[in-house]
Amino acid sequence: MKKRIAVLGSTGSIGTQALDVIRENPDNFEVEVLTAHNNIQLLIKQAKEFKPNAVVIANKSKYKELSEALSDSDIKIYAGNDAISQIVEMSTVDIVLTAMVGYSGLLPTINAIKSGKNIALANKETLVVAGEIIQKLAIHHKVSIYPVDSEHSAIFQCLVGEEQNVIEKIYLTASGGPFRGKDIDFLKNATKNNALKHPNWEMGAKITIDSATMLNKGFEAIEARWLFGLNPDQIEIVVHPQSIVHSAVQFQDGSIKAQMGLPDMKLPILYALGFPMRLKTNFPRFSFWDYPELSFEKPDLKNFKNLAIAYEAMDKCGNMPCILNAANEIAVEAFLEDKIGFCEMTDIIEQSIENITYIKHPDLGDLINTDKETREFSKSIIN
Ligand code: NDP
Ligand code: MG
Repeated sequence: MKKRIAVLGSTGSIGTQALDVIRENPDNFEVEVLTAHNNIQLLIKQAKEFKPNAVVIANKSKYKELSEALSDSDIKIYAGNDAISQIVEMSTVDIVLTAMVGYSGLLPTINAIKSGKNIALANKETLVVAGEIIQKLAIHHKVSIYPVDSEHSAIFQCLVGEEQNVIEKIYLTASGGPFRGKDIDFLKNATKNNALKHPNWEMGAKITIDSATMLNKGFEAIEARWLFGLNPDQIEIVVHPQSIVHSAVQFQDGSIKAQMGLPDMKLPILYALGFPMRLKTNFPRFSFWDYPELSFEKPDLKNFKNLAIAYEAMDKCGNMPCILNAANEIAVEAFLEDKIGFCEMTDIIEQSIENITYIKHPDLGDLINTDKETREFSKSIIN
């Protein structure tokens, strides 16, 4: 039986690589839904190739153009964020790949879980904002969440067959991003162009900036906490510039299992979609002789303050990670629009955390309000 997939965010970095994987495995997968925000031209091209049951464009003003372009097909066409949230409930969808960026992934993921769909989760912000709620919902609805993030896929792979064994801790590896080893004077003047040049991964702009500030790794620690049911002190970040060891698990006997490979997101995407099968690929193979030295360092929490803030947010929990995420989304956007400097992103996050009311046990409504309030506050201090 082919798995029928809803690809949310099909025009992005993860979305397009997921479609490559699907294209290469026509006997295993088929596309049921495609969604995008603005990139209508690519969405039309993808719809013509993969012939999904439905497509959704988040930006409603593009609906007419999309409908006209696909008028000679029987693909159903919808527009708006509510439509993205609803489309995942379709009975013909087996698995939902959440590859949208940022907070926009939250409500569609919740709806998908509530309608019993398994999730291939790339959109880590969903777990940053509402990890506890998502974890409980997934258990309640007996839904599996397969991680797409390479580190979490690595941990997930290390845990196969270890269900009865106790995890002592996990090691989340980090490349260190484009500014590894740089000091605060360098970071103050870091430019957008340099921040967008990641040494090992080609990704969307938002996560690339998060990697440059190291906040991405803080988000991943929070993501790991909820995916694998860990305490914050069981998660250690290890900077590993070659991005070959994708992460590792240490069990209570002291033994460590790590997962390795070349940095290529198609591998974790394929594993998440194909689980429990490992499907055959012709991806380039890793050679030990090309990497005679793999190195490991401690993260620099002094110069990369966002990482320290993320750890604090993980400890305090409640709505603090939600505040962190919303302030960061506004800050990254402003940095990409050349409105603020690299280190000012941290200032905006710190001020938001100071000013927005902390809630220890937020429900979903509280988180939605927190997100809205934080965005308004962050914008007000930028303008
Ligand atoms: P991109 O920016 O490349 O793609 C984002 C996708 O989401 C696009 O299809 C975009 O549509 C759509 N989108 C953006 N905003 C909205 C919105 N408000 N409503 C609906 N759809 C929206 O991001 P990435 O693919 O890099 O990242 C996607 C997610 O995966 C992120 O959460 C990221 O952290 C995570 N991730 C990514 C990795 C990577 O290698 N790229 C690795 C690990 C995790 P449009 O093109 O029309 O704007
Ligand atoms: Mg990652």
